[in-house]
Amino acid sequence: MTDGNRFRELLDAAPDAIIEADAAGRIVLVNEIAQRLFGYTRDEFLGLSIDSLVPAAMRGRHADHRESFGRHATTRPMGSGLELRAQRRDGTVFPVEISLSPIHSGDGFHVIATVRDVTARRAAEERFRELQNRFTGELEEKNRQLRQRNAEVERSDRLKSEFLAGMSHELRSPLHTIIGFAELLIEELEGPLNDKQKRFVSHIHRDSHHLLALINDLLDLSKIEAGRMEFHPEEFALRPALDDVVEMMRPRAEGKELTLTAAVDPRVFVDADRLHMRQVLTNLLSNAVKFTAAGGTVSVTASQRSNRIAISVADSGVGIAREDHEAIFDKFYQVGSTTKGVREGTGLGLAITKRLVEQQGGRIWVDSEPGRGSTFVFTVKAGRSSTDCIGPLVLIIEDEPRAGELLVNYLAPEKLLTLCVSGARQAAMIGQELEPEAIVVDLAGPTTEDWQIIRDLRGSPFLAAIPIIVVSAAEIDDEARSLHVAAHLTKPVGKRQLMDTFARVAGRKADS
Ligand code: ADP
Repeated sequence: MTDGNRFRELLDAAPDAIIEADAAGRIVLVNEIAQRLFGYTRDEFLGLSIDSLVPAAMRGRHADHRESFGRHATTRPMGSGLELRAQRRDGTVFPVEISLSPIHSGDGFHVIATVRDVTARRAAEERFRELQNRFTGELEEKNRQLRQRNAEVERSDRLKSEFLAGMSHELRSPLHTIIGFAELLIEELEGPLNDKQKRFVSHIHRDSHHLLALINDLLDLSKIEAGRMEFHPEEFALRPALDDVVEMMRPRAEGKELTLTAAVDPRVFVDADRLHMRQVLTNLLSNAVKFTAAGGTVSVTASQRSNRIAISVADSGVGIAREDHEAIFDKFYQVGSTTKGVREGTGLGLAITKRLVEQQGGRIWVDSEPGRGSTFVFTVKAGRSSTDCIGPLVLIIEDEPRAGELLVNYLAPEKLLTLCVSGARQAAMIGQELEPEAIVVDLAGPTTEDWQIIRDLRGSPFLAAIPIIVVSAAEIDDEARSLHVAAHLTKPVGKRQLMDTFARVAGRKADS
């Protein structure tokens, strides 16, 4: 094969049209693709002005462009940034990309143009733009619809709460009358009632009260949900506020022979809405009293860590199964097994309580097991005056209710704040909020099950690094040793021993 033939083959194998023109713009060489693309034969091409490949409308200016390229000739794309077009022999026009290279041949300055047909690419780009426009249009339409829906929802929320506010006022007035007259009848001031009549009237009285509570709760909830509940935070001492609620609850507790205690350091101050705090405490305490059988206990404690106060309301009542722990904070959710036959509640108390706590930046959770009582804990912002009484917090995990009482009595006078919890799950929730200095695990065993508590504590991201002191009845075994607790004390444990151990391990963030 001669060099000339090889050159021709190379040219024809190129994927783009290649056209060479001389200094006057006359075509001197074309490849196969150029012929197919433009519809000229090789013979027709040769000698043709390159300007005839430019669409008629632009042809006039093309001669100037050619000249200026001749003056600053470099290899470069033609008309960068422009959408270039070329014209076929039959006059049809199509989009192209052109790259120009100057060469010097025997008879002077030549230009080689590489022309690529970009019809397919332009069509794809066009389609893409169309889709993009359609998509943007649809998105805008969806956004508009969403904004409209939001506005409608807000409007209907507002109307709902206005309606509820109006209706509850309308309902409350006659209800007060019904309750008032029922009370007058019960007092028998207008003459004696027989037993049946008394029973009937007391049904009316009880159910009217129930209805009143329901209306009040519904109104509160709708106010909160519509963002219309007002919060007036102020700083106040927790203990007197709590004592008020406890005293209000005491007759009911005593009626059921419950032991009701509140042990809160008088220096604990909270920064919260006083009325809502009272409402939260009242709800938790009245539930505790309601769901605890005669002879049981209900106790309130509080502890502080940095700028948070955790208040816990614990009872020894019926308890709540794990699968209900979240649902009880939903509207109208009542656990059948606890409320069977009891028409006292509305099922809205905890829903309101949770919202009141959360809207003030706190959290609320429950730790409970059926038959083992319940502990509700909620957090609230600490008042500034409270900072004086911040002491290190020690979490006490007690295996049996009240087993930790002795430990609390050891630690409390030493300015250590204590919080008793019954399991690793609740400890983890508190750990997230309050950063304890150490965890004391009081075990009756220990059994393999007990050691699981330690593993669970280690597994919590908020507690993994907190030193653990185990207080147990039995000697530590190999299984326990592998858990790397900071210290292990065998009962009986004296106060000095516990305090020394605490001083040694507290603040030591990684156990080894
Ligand atoms: P209710 O008006 O029924 O008390 P709440 O919203 O206050 O409504 O409580 C929802 C449900 O949670 C109760 O019906 C009860 O089943 C359960 N519950 C709440 N507190 C306790 C508790 N201290 N012990 C056991 N169950 C409880």
